[in-house]
Amino acid sequence: PATSLQDIVGHAKEYGFVFPSSEIYDGLQAVYDYGQNGVELKNNLKAVWWKAMTQLNDNIVGIDASIFMHPLTWKASGHIDGFSDPMIDNKDSKKRYRADQLLEGKAEQYEADGRPETAQALLAEMGRLLSAEDLEGVRELIIAENIKCAVSNTANWTEVRQFNLMFSTQVGSVAEDSSLIYLRPETAQGIFVNFLNVQKSGRMKVPFGIAQIGKAFRNEIVARQFTFRMREFEQMEMQFFIRPGTEMAWYNNWKEARMKFHIALGLPAESLKFHDHEKLAHYANAAVDIEYKFPFGFREMEGIHSRTDFDLRNHQELSRKKLQYFDADLDENGKPYGNYIPYVVETSVGADRLFLATFCNAYTKETVGEGDSEKERTYLKLHPALAPFKVAVLPLVKKDGLAEKAQAITNSLKSAFRTTYDDGAAIGKRYTRQDLIGTPFCVVVDYQTMEDDTVTIRHRDTMEQERVAISELREKIGYQVSV
Ligand code: ATP
Repeated sequence: PATSLQDIVGHAKEYGFVFPSSEIYDGLQAVYDYGQNGVELKNNLKAVWWKAMTQLNDNIVGIDASIFMHPLTWKASGHIDGFSDPMIDNKDSKKRYRADQLLEGKAEQYEADGRPETAQALLAEMGRLLSAEDLEGVRELIIAENIKCAVSNTANWTEVRQFNLMFSTQVGSVAEDSSLIYLRPETAQGIFVNFLNVQKSGRMKVPFGIAQIGKAFRNEIVARQFTFRMREFEQMEMQFFIRPGTEMAWYNNWKEARMKFHIALGLPAESLKFHDHEKLAHYANAAVDIEYKFPFGFREMEGIHSRTDFDLRNHQELSRKKLQYFDADLDENGKPYGNYIPYVVETSVGADRLFLATFCNAYTKETVGEGDSEKERTYLKLHPALAPFKVAVLPLVKKDGLAEKAQAITNSLKSAFRTTYDDGAAIGKRYTRQDLIGTPFCVVVDYQTMEDDTVTIRHRDTMEQERVAISELREKIGYQVSV
């Protein structure tokens, strides 16, 4: 049977990957905490992304900007005026919805009923109304489509309002307008405002990129589907600064590079697809999503956007500081390209969505054995580089010096990669414990080990065992856990 989101949520909680936030107080909607295994998996994903960006590309460097930024940042970026979703309430159930999601849901229904043209027409009409900011039209469309509220089965809707998604708070002790600041809704702006600092201090030449991993906050109207849509989440973004006119080549280049990244980490090509945006955000002249097939359908995991000079130009205007670059390279007439505001192609992936995709993909249920010994086996088929633990060292029994030997092996491996030791139960049960958290290798110390200093390595996915010398472990495992 197909994996359900419920299986994922249950497994994530039971094995220390993801917990609801403040659970003892019944949780806080759309906020989650990563547990002891989840934080390792997430850190590994972030480390691999960071390496792919800053170590494997000579012309990309990283920064770590603050969550708080000068309020004018969000004026320049367009977030104060335009970062909102159309919100609608059902008067009977008092439930709040996103108007566009109600219509998208209806379109999905048409699609499922074998009426793709009707679905397309509905989405096109919605796009037209939203672009024209015709909110009354959106409401009429919802009513005309006879969309009912799931809770009370009524269609008694309020008007549609634009709801800004930014969280705000006060700095300092005086609650004046000037002290109102926002929690960043995206990490990108920390990169734009530092563009010249990095370019000058690093003597960077266009084309070059700046990468960042950090928290972002959005007051999502309807937050559902586990960690897919949270109010506090983490982004991994890279803004690539280029000469105007070269954006389509770079856009295609990054599109391909990012798809390859996901496949290299184990997401199957058939569970991934590109989805071109019909409706472009205010800052973009081309945009595509990489979608992953989550248990609830293909949904956005990463965005690749050609942002033109929208952000830098607006920051230049509001800050009255020149945000230009002098390009000494020669054009086809032999003249330097000279001063310009660079264009930007960005790649933006949610660390939490990448985590969720990786976790869903790794979750495997299999029937093993035959006849009486047939049983169901659950394990996480994580790429070894991503697994919370790389190795578990298990003494077959605790007595006769096997435990001490296994502990010595654990100590010799743990500075190279994350290693755990377990002598707590029957060996089969200990294998299962490691399978459930995705540990790719179990090293077993048995009586033969005491004679010839060899151990067995049991492989998670195949459950096959091989005998190797203790002295070879570090190299053999180290080779397989790197990307
Ligand atoms: P969506 O349409 O799903 O709201 P978006 O198009 O607004 O996403 P972007 O602004 O392009 O998203 O943000 C880039 C990435 O950040 C997304 O691809 C996603 O992985 C992640 N992201 C955005 N919003 C959230 C959220 N509320 N929770 C978790 N991750 C998010």
